[in-house]
Amino acid sequence: MNLNPDKALVVFSGGQDSTTCMFHALKHYKEVEVVTFNYGQRHALEIEVAKKIADEQGLKHHILDMSLLSQLAPNALTDHTLEIEGGDIPNTFVPARNLLFMSFAAALAYQIEAKHIITGVCETDFSGYPDCRDIFIKSLNVTVNLAMDQNFVIHTPLMWLDKKETWQLADELGQLDYIRNNTLTCYKGIIADGCGECPSCQLRKTGLEAYLAERGTK
Ligand SMILES: [Zn+2]
Repeated sequence: MNLNPDKALVVFSGGQDSTTCMFHALKHYKEVEVVTFNYGQRHALEIEVAKKIADEQGLKHHILDMSLLSQLAPNALTDHTLEIEGGDIPNTFVPARNLLFMSFAAALAYQIEAKHIITGVCETDFSGYPDCRDIFIKSLNVTVNLAMDQNFVIHTPLMWLDKKETWQLADELGQLDYIRNNTLTCYKGIIADGCGECPSCQLRKTGLEAYLAERGTK
């Protein structure tokens, strides 16, 4: 089986980062499909938002059921009764979650013959997740290639960008307004600019304000 060098699979949650990655993929590859993992997110709305964005872009959208994760880590992300707290590693952390997601993404990429796998993981803003680090992704790239005897390339266009630079990339792709108005990153499940107060909204807002100030238009 030969992987299609013009085809990319984007790991897609409907949030700012993965939507930026989706537009990045649309710019660089002839064929793009997206995959969303359903793992009992705090807001089922996440899946709906991802579906809507994929539909609007006319992309084939794969939704993989990863609800077994709730058996491994009953924490703030999957147990709706717990509050999100701070700390070195956020208690939304599911051990090896990204390892599992990326392995499933690679297995799907094999099925759809996509050579490229794109993920919005980033060391800059969320250093608490060890399986989002660049060195882990490089290691996993070797592993999935050995596992399937293929030559996948895992791309991480946001790895070294901070939120301001991610907004800049969205703008360069001509999609700043679309991403601002249609994506969901808020822990409280509010689309676009969100609640403005949860850690995710604050990160997003601070980055956006910094970028807009730099660009010179509010
Ligand atoms: Zn929020």
